[in-house]
Amino acid sequence: MTQTIFFYLTICASTIFITSFFLTQQNDFKVVVINEVIREMGKDLFSSSDPAVVEKYLPEGGAPASMSSFVLFASDDVVLIDAGLGGPNWVNKLTELGVKPEKIKLILLTHMHGDHIGGLLDGHTRRFPNATVLSAKLEYDYWFPKNAKARTSQLEKIKTAYGNDFSKTFEFDEQVFANATMKITALNAVGHTPGHTAFLVESSQNRLLIVGDLLHAAALQFPVPDICSSYDMDTKNTVTSRKRILDFAIKQNILIGGMHFPVPNIGKVKSNGQGGYEFIPAK
Ligand SMILES: [Zn+2]
Repeated sequence: MTQTIFFYLTICASTIFITSFFLTQQNDFKVVVINEVIREMGKDLFSSSDPAVVEKYLPEGGAPASMSSFVLFASDDVVLIDAGLGGPNWVNKLTELGVKPEKIKLILLTHMHGDHIGGLLDGHTRRFPNATVLSAKLEYDYWFPKNAKARTSQLEKIKTAYGNDFSKTFEFDEQVFANATMKITALNAVGHTPGHTAFLVESSQNRLLIVGDLLHAAALQFPVPDICSSYDMDTKNTVTSRKRILDFAIKQNILIGGMHFPVPNIGKVKSNGQGGYEFIPAK
């Protein structure tokens, strides 16, 4: 027991940084997962759910997880999906990948929680001078300008720094990027936040569905998809979106990737035959 606790604390206290590569064929896109933080999602996030069910799937007390963002390379373009917490390691990793901030023209946001937008700023100024930051209209309209009380000072700073490059939005099912190699379509995944979005990334050879925060604890929520974390703003819609998106991925046989999935963050999903799902990590 002592060893387990020590291990858990060690993981929480350190920022680990791993990069995974997939889909490296010619005329294809390449995706790099930046694991900014590798940590567990604790049981306390699921305190509104039946403790016996939570205990059954998380007997050790937490679910392996990460705080991650995705970098897509296709032809000469680099597209970011979310911008992480934006700590030094996240920034260093982009540099290590040879991605200069001025190279990024497009950043797509799954939603506007702090662990997905932090890297947009360098202090008080914009880190990406040439980027347009796109979010769902429903997401933008929730945080700006109506519900000013909900808006964070971090979002205020980002809006001030990016101006019109932050206020452009998309509708669901809209194609938000296309070049000769890759296209990206925004899909409705609302519930976690009012405009939470999944992105379907496609080339002629591969497809990847990046599902944002559709699940936080893979070990618990794939088998029991009705369970929500305390981060989910609208639990009913979260569950509806979760099942619709996962069923779509199964039907279409698409790889999925999640911002809080355990490393390597990408894999296949299948039905577990009992009303839930099973996640098979990519190798
Ligand atoms: Zn998140």
